[in-house]
Amino acid sequence: MSTPYRAPDLLIQGQWCAGQHTQSLPIVNPANAATLDQLRLASTAQIAQALQGAQAGFEVWRKVPAFERCARLEKGVARMRQNIEHIANLLTQEQGKTLAEARAECAMAADLIKWYAEEARRTYGRIVPARLPNSSMQVHKLPVGPVAAFSPWNFPLVLSSRKIGGALAAGCSIILKGAEETPASVAAMVACLAEDLPAGALQLLYGVPSELSEQLIASPIIRKVSFTGSVPVGRHLAQLSARHLKRITLELGGHAPVIVCADADIDTTVTTLVTHKFRNAGQACLAPTRFYVDQAIAGDFKDAFVAASQRLVLGDGMQSSTNMGPLANARRVAAVRDLIDRSVQAGAQAHQGQAPEGGFFAPVTVLTGVTPDMPVMQEEPFGPVVTIAPFETLNQAIQWANHSPYGLAGYLFTDSARNIHQVTQELEVGSLAVNGVAVSVPEAPFGGVKDSGYGSESGIEGMEAFLETKFVHQCV
Ligand code: NAD
Repeated sequence: MSTPYRAPDLLIQGQWCAGQHTQSLPIVNPANAATLDQLRLASTAQIAQALQGAQAGFEVWRKVPAFERCARLEKGVARMRQNIEHIANLLTQEQGKTLAEARAECAMAADLIKWYAEEARRTYGRIVPARLPNSSMQVHKLPVGPVAAFSPWNFPLVLSSRKIGGALAAGCSIILKGAEETPASVAAMVACLAEDLPAGALQLLYGVPSELSEQLIASPIIRKVSFTGSVPVGRHLAQLSARHLKRITLELGGHAPVIVCADADIDTTVTTLVTHKFRNAGQACLAPTRFYVDQAIAGDFKDAFVAASQRLVLGDGMQSSTNMGPLANARRVAAVRDLIDRSVQAGAQAHQGQAPEGGFFAPVTVLTGVTPDMPVMQEEPFGPVVTIAPFETLNQAIQWANHSPYGLAGYLFTDSARNIHQVTQELEVGSLAVNGVAVSVPEAPFGGVKDSGYGSESGIEGMEAFLETKFVHQCV
């Protein structure tokens, strides 16, 4: 049964309050295109209040010892785990992914914050051997200051939790601008965490994105920016951050290559990849998309993949029989359809399944006969679209895989140590999974190269992004 849906308030200076902007936005259930509620947005004055709150919250939170920061965050994580059903239910209604995926996302977000909470106790500096007698040289790691974070709608909990967990564990305060399309699940997560935090340490805003980012990044209070989303918006925020000399971490999506060598087991590889690819209807920055398969097995691989993908049941994510939900919004359906049409016009062949009527559904689509410069090989599909191309040599597969502006995740299926070594050295990606698909875990860095952005989230590198380094040379 569905949890009653209500668009959330904003969290400013420890108080939940209604947005006072003149504009509001409809929140739409993508499974049936019905409006769930209206989201009220933050006004300029409310953004200014949040900035003051972030400064005050930072002054308090930075002085809370790391052991206690860890304990308080862990209380919030426990509350998230107790509320998984509620949060997941809201997420499925506003985003479309299946309830099973929504539960898994909430559990993953809790794991991420738990890992950062523990890591708070290990933000070690170091002692450098002194040059002078009666002196010491120390390197301190200190919180960078109030953070402005921007997270998207595809994995609203996980992608927010990477920023919230890292910032708070490091001792920073954070203003999160969640995605306006999926506000209630993020607000429910934030409510779980904020209960044990000082006012202003964690604040949540929804607004007109361009107004919010311009006001936050221009403020001298904000010391660090973190964004996950599209390349054009990332480029814009990087320019804004450069103008105000703000540190920024950017995770801007991907178009992940998959190299399947002749020694890979076809059935196991197809089963693994179909599950991973169509999670969240393919709307994942790390989703495998461009498949390069050794020509010796390419025909059998394609037949098995098309058959397995067409067995997926598409429908409302609230139904337990559903394997794949709708796309998150109407503009994604139009964008995916347009990309497929342009690629077919350029000579690709489409193997498509069925899609239900009503809601924002797109059929699973496998494109063959693709060439490296076709639209679908250069533009991120961000939907249930896969391309399959046969290769003759591993050198050729790597060259094609690197012929992309993106470089986030990559996948390799082979037992050959020589192949693994070559792909590890030469594939232009930030994360590589070999004979598996787990490219993102809380304890390891996740980030991209080329247009996929810069900087890492998760792992000690993710924590480092919220710390600054201070050298102290002390003489007696
Ligand atoms: P978009 O570029 O319109 O918006 C992406 C996100 O950025 C949204 O949450 C939006 O609220 C925010 N945003 C937009 N303008 C902003 C601004 N000026 N300041 C601050 N935030 C701003 O893209 P979209 O239509 O939502 O998604 C399309 C593309 O975005 C996808 O095809 C995909 O490539 C990319 N995307 C990537 C990720 C990721 O995980 N890296 C997530 C979502 C979307």
